[in-house]
Amino acid sequence: MANIIAVANQKGGVAKTTTAVNLSACLAEAGKEILLVDMDPQGNASSGLGIDKVRVRHCIYDVLINGAPADSVIVRSDWEHLHILPATIQLAGAEIELVSAISREVKLKRAIDPLRSRFDFIVIDCPPSLGLLTLNSLTAADYMLIPIQCEYYALEGLGQLMSTIKLVQKHLNNDLSILGVLLTMFDARTNLSIQVVDEVKNHFPDEVFRTIIPRNVRLSEAPSHGQPIIAYDPKSRGAEVYRELAKEVLQRV
Ligand code: ADP
Ligand code: MG
Repeated sequence: MANIIAVANQKGGVAKTTTAVNLSACLAEAGKEILLVDMDPQGNASSGLGIDKVRVRHCIYDVLINGAPADSVIVRSDWEHLHILPATIQLAGAEIELVSAISREVKLKRAIDPLRSRFDFIVIDCPPSLGLLTLNSLTAADYMLIPIQCEYYALEGLGQLMSTIKLVQKHLNNDLSILGVLLTMFDARTNLSIQVVDEVKNHFPDEVFRTIIPRNVRLSEAPSHGQPIIAYDPKSRGAEVYRELAKEVLQRV
């Protein structure tokens, strides 16, 4: 039965998509059956795995709004064990269309729960907001993985994220728990990065993953080639650390 992990933080540019794509790919490499659900209208997770969005006929929008079976929208990636529920820009409309929908927060949960028996992990890449697409993701998930960029204001906005999690736990999904907090884009040459790591560890003593993701140029190049890091440059530091993260995730679930 699949564990469902939502990669969420309402801030943009903190490596949600990079983490969702590469964690998925590394878990697939470890032989796990993976479904990556793209819940961001930008569709970066889809294109990062080489999905040509122009040629995608149905996307997660059709599942959430038109009731299409999730099954019929899943596409295979070029990598063994790795499947995608893609997003296109059409998904941008869902944020508004869902407002007036019945059971608007549980659409994704109802769509993907039936897929649990087919996968070991379902990883959801959330958009950079706390709107209905993220609420649907947190309602569908068992676990949340929170990437935090080692930058100024790293902890800014986390209070809001935490109160959203509490609200979801109280009203929509009692089973939601935090899988871990992931420090990303760490730069060992700067005092700032080191300070942020300390600060985040003080704030989340039990949640921070041992694995810290460093800044790595290869990680930022891989998406433009439509490949996860382990395909684009399997020996890079970026590939190494995301494999370590996958191991840690397997230990924690
Ligand atoms: P989000 O999904 O949270 O908006 P992304 O995963 O798209 O964030 O990352 C934001 C940008 O930073 C992207 O251009 C991505 O390629 C780059 N990036 C992410 N992680 C790293 C890293 N460890 N080293 C270098 N660049 C990174
Ligand atoms: Mg993203």
